[in-house]
Amino acid sequence: MHSFSQFKEALERLRSDLDSYSLDAGREVGSVQILPVTKRQPLEAVGFAHRLGLAVVGENVVQEAAVKIQDFRKEMTWELIGHLQSNKARIAVELFNRIQTVDNLKLLRRLDRFASEACKQQRILLQINTSQDPAKYGVPPEDADQLVETALDLENIILEGFMTIGLQSSDPAVAEKTFYSLRELRDRLEEDFKNPFPELSMGMSGDLEPAVRAGSTIVRVGTALFGERPPRF
Ligand SMILES: *Cc1c(COP(=O)(O)O)cnc(C)c1O
Repeated sequence: MHSFSQFKEALERLRSDLDSYSLDAGREVGSVQILPVTKRQPLEAVGFAHRLGLAVVGENVVQEAAVKIQDFRKEMTWELIGHLQSNKARIAVELFNRIQTVDNLKLLRRLDRFASEACKQQRILLQINTSQDPAKYGVPPEDADQLVETALDLENIILEGFMTIGLQSSDPAVAEKTFYSLRELRDRLEEDFKNPFPELSMGMSGDLEPAVRAGSTIVRVGTALFGERPPRF
């Protein structure tokens, strides 16, 4: 993992990169939020983010996040960016300010129920499988309408937008296509449901520029900020 000074430098570089991608795309500077991703990094990584005034971090595994959250309950808020099984919906509602990976009706309804029990409005994004890859999580784009309709009906769910993972490729045009398709889907859903869905969570360390060009409002950045992660075992 990076030292604190490397992290600080990386954050400054990331901010200036995002600003120049935004300007190139004719977007307002500062219109892309950075979500630092601390998964598989030591607790120290969360401390780094906190020291530089980043108040929200992303984690992808519920159990790992639960351990880290204990130490930063007051200082930080947390977003889930990894797959969520329905049987962990209750604890996810307890732990996460926003869940970016909602991708089926059963999970959506469970989150609503547990949010109600916790007297909480649960903020969510729907994860869309824009690359139509059957091996990936996410709602197939053709099923998005049904989930949006349900989410809007549920009293304890606040649907703020959509998330996708770019198709990995050495050709940035490939990722860009998946990002544009999410943006177009969002624009159409806003029209059809007469409801704003402002957030588009797309772009990670390797595909930030195409994501910003396509209209990303949240980039989820791990290695470009904190350095390499230990491998999954
Ligand atoms: C790990 C992860 C990221 C961050 O990836 P980097 O390439 O390290 O920036 C972003 N989004 C999701 C869903 C992830 O699992």
